[in-house]
Amino acid sequence: MATILVTGGAGFLGSHLCERLIDRGDDVICVDNFFSGRKANIEHLLGNSRFEVIRHDIVHPLYVEAEQIYNLACPASPVAYQYNPIKTIKTSTVGMVNVLGLAKRCRARVLHTSTSEVYGDPEVHPQREDYWGHVNPIGPRSCYDEGKRVAESLCMNYHLAHGIEIRIVRIFNTYGPRMDPNDGRVVSNFIMQALRGQPLTIYGEGQQTRSFCYVDDLIEGFIRFMNQEEEIGPMNLGNPVENTMIELAQAVLDVTGSKSKLTNEPLPKDDPKQRCPDITKAKRVLKWEPKVDLRTGLSKTADYYRRTQFGK
Ligand code: NAD
Ligand code: UDP
Ligand code: UDP
Repeated sequence: MATILVTGGAGFLGSHLCERLIDRGDDVICVDNFFSGRKANIEHLLGNSRFEVIRHDIVHPLYVEAEQIYNLACPASPVAYQYNPIKTIKTSTVGMVNVLGLAKRCRARVLHTSTSEVYGDPEVHPQREDYWGHVNPIGPRSCYDEGKRVAESLCMNYHLAHGIEIRIVRIFNTYGPRMDPNDGRVVSNFIMQALRGQPLTIYGEGQQTRSFCYVDDLIEGFIRFMNQEEEIGPMNLGNPVENTMIELAQAVLDVTGSKSKLTNEPLPKDDPKQRCPDITKAKRVLKWEPKVDLRTGLSKTADYYRRTQFGK
């Protein structure tokens, strides 16, 4: 088993990844600045001798020894990444250089978590990895989208110049337990609103689409991708089942049994109209596809919020 560095390991996805790696018998070093991550996400791992946490910001150099690195550090919800856009850019650029510098020194393999946001407001549907995207370079989402595009370029250029082993994954909307209930993403918003009996806030007409993957499925894809030799990516990972926000709201009401109404709020600027992954490559190379359907996943997520937010 290996020593594995997980940056952003106290976040939503990172905490699930740390847990899975420890369960496999790996040693895990979790690095996080706790901007959008929480100690509660990793509390249950702290007693484990194979787990170690370092409070550190990847914008600053980091010297540890690792054989594999999963680079997840970066706020993911639009509210979080727009809070300090310049910091978000630094994390995806300066932070990425530091992670790749560390990988170069240790000869470690890096799996970098990119995003479907590199496709912007896509003109090709569903999105395949060879689509170059349609991103507004100066819009409110650009600190995230363009930062992630530079990060991909850095990975590819460290690979070409220094032979660093890279794996680039483009993640589509993923949800599940440990998503911050206040992070403003649609799944956490809708479930919290439904459980509180408040109206579900549909931005715009609610006809925009997203494709929602349950966290356990995604983490399985990460580990398969990291540990195969055929592909460096980019590789889409996500659920190809596409839903409008109205359909998502209805599913949330069904699984929570809530009587909440729907209400409309303005659509944020540059909000992509549709998003759906083409996962042909992941199916072929990783023999991977999502197994958890939307209602099952929403119901597990609602149980988590009931337990942690409402003491039920
Ligand atoms: P998250 O905000 O819960 O996790 C990100 C973690 O990184 C947090 O713990 C945060 O404190 C930490 N972090 C942020 N900046 C840092 C820095 N400069 N130094 C050290 N730590 C830092 O978000 P998440 O949903 O778990 O996303 C994890 C990764 O996956 C992100 O890179 C995100 O862009 C990517 N991603 C997520 C999704 C999704 O739907 N969840 C979709 C696409 C891409
Ligand atoms: N770096 C790091 N940890 C390491 C090795 C390097 O944080 O274990 C940082 C270092 O600060 C450097 C960056 O990674 O600025 C890029 O490293 P690289 O070797 O590519 O560049 P150089 O040191 O030649 O500028
Ligand atoms: N959204 C919504 N209500 C909310 C939060 C978000 O209708 O309370 C919409 C948002 O406009 C977007 C979609 O849901 O079209 C997904 O938003 P999220 O912030 O979760 O992710 P992203 O836009 O990054 O895919």
